[in-house]
Amino acid sequence: MQTREVKVGNVIIGGGHPIVVQSMCNTRTSDIDASVAQCKRLYEAGAGLIRLTVPTLDDVQALAAVRERLRECGIDTPLVADVHFSSEIAIAAAETVEKVRINPGNFHKDFDRAKEQFARLVKVCKEHGTAIRIGLNHGSLGDRITTLYGNTSLAMKEAAMEWLGLCEENDFHDVVVSLKASNTIVMVEAYRLLARAMEERGMAYPLHLGVTEAGNGDSGRIKSAAGISALLSEGIGDTIRVSLTEDPVNEIPVAQYLADRYGHRLHSSMVSLNIEGGKATAVYEAPSRERFMLDMACDFGKMLLDRKIDDVEFRGSYRAADGSEIRLDGSEEAAYFSDELLQAARRRFYKPEYVACPGCGRTMYNLEETFNEVKRRTSHLKGMVIAVMGCIVNGPGEMADADWGYVGEGGHKVTIYRKKTPVLKHIPENEAIDRLLELIEGN
Ligand code: SF4
Repeated sequence: MQTREVKVGNVIIGGGHPIVVQSMCNTRTSDIDASVAQCKRLYEAGAGLIRLTVPTLDDVQALAAVRERLRECGIDTPLVADVHFSSEIAIAAAETVEKVRINPGNFHKDFDRAKEQFARLVKVCKEHGTAIRIGLNHGSLGDRITTLYGNTSLAMKEAAMEWLGLCEENDFHDVVVSLKASNTIVMVEAYRLLARAMEERGMAYPLHLGVTEAGNGDSGRIKSAAGISALLSEGIGDTIRVSLTEDPVNEIPVAQYLADRYGHRLHSSMVSLNIEGGKATAVYEAPSRERFMLDMACDFGKMLLDRKIDDVEFRGSYRAADGSEIRLDGSEEAAYFSDELLQAARRRFYKPEYVACPGCGRTMYNLEETFNEVKRRTSHLKGMVIAVMGCIVNGPGEMADADWGYVGEGGHKVTIYRKKTPVLKHIPENEAIDRLLELIEGN
């Protein structure tokens, strides 16, 4: 898909330029020292764009200070302000940094008012040469659009086309769009629908890809690689973020692998493949465990998502960190990777499905530690969808399909959700996992 170029500071997204790898700080933006330090680590790791959350107008000042400190150190990586709900904050941020990420639908409940506020933002962006990302996540589309189209990939596409239409009416074209979901099928379908709709309307805005709330560890990496690679392999996608509930620096090598592979600078370590009766048997000679994991997710994620195959078996080997050869043939680890990939593509569920946000400056508690503890204590609940979300502002909306949600309120308190309904509020953090388990077992 040939997209138009969108200039974000000194970086160009789209127009055939290399895929831009990006990440987001999980520091409080108001903690300027911590934010500058994390931006530096992300820059050193290779991030091409760095996003920071901007929950209040005061954080716009902090963002400006972070930017200034980075520029003083010779770091000119463009910064992106992540803004929700407030057009005033988005406008102030648009005067400060190179790009603003918004979900314009949540500017106002009334669509006409939201459109007016969006038009004001566009005007400021035009004056300052600031780009916009229209970031519409599955689960945070708003009532108007979901009443019309359901909470579906079609709704995501329709919402994006509506806002892109408004950009065009305002003669504004420095726009990137994302349609993220934690469900890989919904995510891939939404981007495909949008790519087709833009083509039909003669639009070619760059796309920012991501599987949101992908979790952590192997599962987060496999889920992200499967979803993102399915699209990159079709030429869809100009910039990517791999969202992990970990140190954001860990996201960069995974995203860089995807950028390199689909920028034709890297090949799979698979050496042979046989497909028979819907089952793929693949032999690898991988230089590392990480590489094998990402290779196999890219080689078979799309085939599983598109139901071209139903199962996959891994053979061959990868090199361990000490250089020894780890054989996959018939091993428990090979079966584990097959299970993980099938679950990432939503073809077979062998454990609970976890939805966990990566955390950001709004995070209300130690997300990584809590998520790992929730995983440890709920690992027997196969087939259930359990969400662990950092904040009450965006968490409930974004955990879309979860059966249960653990959402940080702030002040060391947690709200537990059953589907979309808060069932226990203001639970002290140190009791919340017990209470969640009691509720699940009671159901
Ligand atoms: S849900 Fe998580 S990533 Fe999203 S705004 Fe809240 S803390 Fe940040």
